[in-house]
Formats: sequence, structure tokens, C-alpha cells
Amino acid sequence: MAAGAGREVHLARGLGRARRPHRTRPRQLRAEVPRTWGTGTGISDPFVAKARAVAESVLVRFAFRHQIDGLLFDGDQVTGVLGTALEPEAARRGAPSSRSPVGSFELRAQAVVIATGGIGGNHEQVRKWWPSRLGTPPQKMIAGVPEYVNGRMLDIATDQGVRLMNRDQMWHCTEGLQNWDPVWPDHAIRIFPGPSSVWLDARGRQLPAPGRCRNSWITATTSSSRTPCPSSSMG
Ligand SMILES: Cc1cc2nc3c(=O)[nH]c(=O)nc-3n(C[C@H](O)[C@H](O)[C@H](O)COP(=O)(O)OP(=O)(O)OC[C@H]3O[C@@H](n4cnc5c(N)ncnc54)[C@H](O)[C@@H]3O)c2cc1C
Repeated sequence: MAAGAGREVHLARGLGRARRPHRTRPRQLRAEVPRTWGTGTGISDPFVAKARAVAESVLVRFAFRHQIDGLLFDGDQVTGVLGTALEPEAARRGAPSSRSPVGSFELRAQAVVIATGGIGGNHEQVRKWWPSRLGTPPQKMIAGVPEYVNGRMLDIATDQGVRLMNRDQMWHCTEGLQNWDPVWPDHAIRIFPGPSSVWLDARGRQLPAPGRCRNSWITATTSSSRTPCPSSSMG
């Protein structure tokens, strides 16, 4: 997809999410995922431009600063959403923004797709859904995502009868560093060298878990030749 939009795509071995038990042979652990080198809005810009172009032809309508607060039903069928129009805001991308209301709205549609992101900016939610196979959640966590990634809409949907699955399937990284110049609260920066992280002590020996355990998907893809961690699968 990115290649068609003018991006060079690499097939990265070992960067997919391993689904097999940890003792599986290395080759079987390695998935291949297409990815571009580098991160940032440059990757999504071509798609944003296309979406904006389509929006001008009235096939797509964006509703920025419109916060969904609930689903509308006709019998058992979801037929729309309702919510709060928020005051205009010029906050920097990723920075916390005003939630002051200036109105309300309802939108009707033939189908409703909820794509409101995850829970990584809300550590209360992270702890609540922390998978038992990963033991006790860390006492201190920092956030790789902005504050708005709070899982609010997931709870709204659940409260209205939507059945969610795999809420304990989280992806956390063990190699986050506190951003000295944060954009969002507890802003974490992840050190992400290609093709994957290898953590060594001062004598060049590989560090033990959790630095290399599978609660980081990257370390999971490189650990097949080492002593397995206590749990046997990753999400
Ligand atoms: C620093 C960083 C770097 C990354 N780099 C890469 C990378 O290089 N390659 C890669 O593949 N992935 C990368 N990712 C991961 C990727 O960005 C996410 O997996 C992806 O953005 C998730 O998409 P999403 O649409 O599910 O959620 P989001 O991108 O979080 O989108 C959810 C949207 O829903 C909106 N929303 C939430 N609640 C409501 C509501 N109640 N009403 C209305 N709107 C609402 C939010 O404002 C948001 O715009 C990176 C993530 C981070 C944080």
C-alpha cells in the first residue's frame, strides 16, 4: 500500500508478532511484515492527502473535534452515534487538548465501525487488562502514546452491549525512555534500532528478562535461541 503511495517498502523478517510458543524453532517464530524505514507523519501523508482529496468531492466527510459519547440503536442494530462537539483547539499534535463542549450532535449511518484506538495512554486501563501470563504489571510505566489513547470508547461500547475480545492482547515495550521534552503526559520515547534490539550487560552477555522477555514483541522475535521465559505465548 505504501509503495503505491510513493514509499519504499522493505520486508522485515522477525518483526512480525510471533504467535507460536517460545520453544518453536527460530524460523517458525519469524513473521515478515512490510514496513518503511523511519517513522512519523511522512509515512501517512500520502494517505492523508488522498483522503482529503476525496473529502473535497463530498464522498467523505471529516468531523474533527467531534467526540463520540454513545452508539445509537434501532433494535439490535447500531445505526449511528451521538456525541459532543468540542471547542476549537490549536494544540500541538499529540498534546492534551480541550474537552470543553460547544454543542452536541447525532450522526446516522448504515454501518458503524469503531476505530478509536487502544488504551496505552491510560495506565489504569493497562493495569486492569494486564494479562496474568505476564505477571504483575510494572509499578512505573511511561506512555508511548498521547493522553487521548485512553480506551474510553471501548468502555462506552461495552456498556452498550458491544462484545469486545482480546482486551488483554497488549503490546508494550521494555526499552522506553522518558522524553526530556514531553508532548503528552509521561511521554516515552522508544529506542528502536533495526532489525531488532539486543540488550547486553557490560561484559557483552545478553540481559535476562524482562529486557528480553516476550512482553516486548521485538525481543520475542530475537529470543528463540535463548532460555525461554516462564510464559509461553505472546499477544
Ligand atoms: C510514537 C509511535 C510510533 C509508531 N510508529 C509506527 C510505525 O512506524 N509503523 C507502524 O505500523 N505503527 C506505528 N505505530 C503504531 C500505530 O501508530 C498505531 O498502531 C495506529 O495508529 C493505531 O491506529 P488506530 O486507528 O487503531 O488508533 P489511533 O491512531 O489512536 O486512532 C484513533 C482515533 O480515534 C479518535 N477517537 C478516540 N476516541 C474517540 C471518540 N470517543 N470520539 C471520536 N474520536 C475518537 C482519536 O482521536 C484518534 O484520532 C506507532 C505508534 C506510536 C505512538
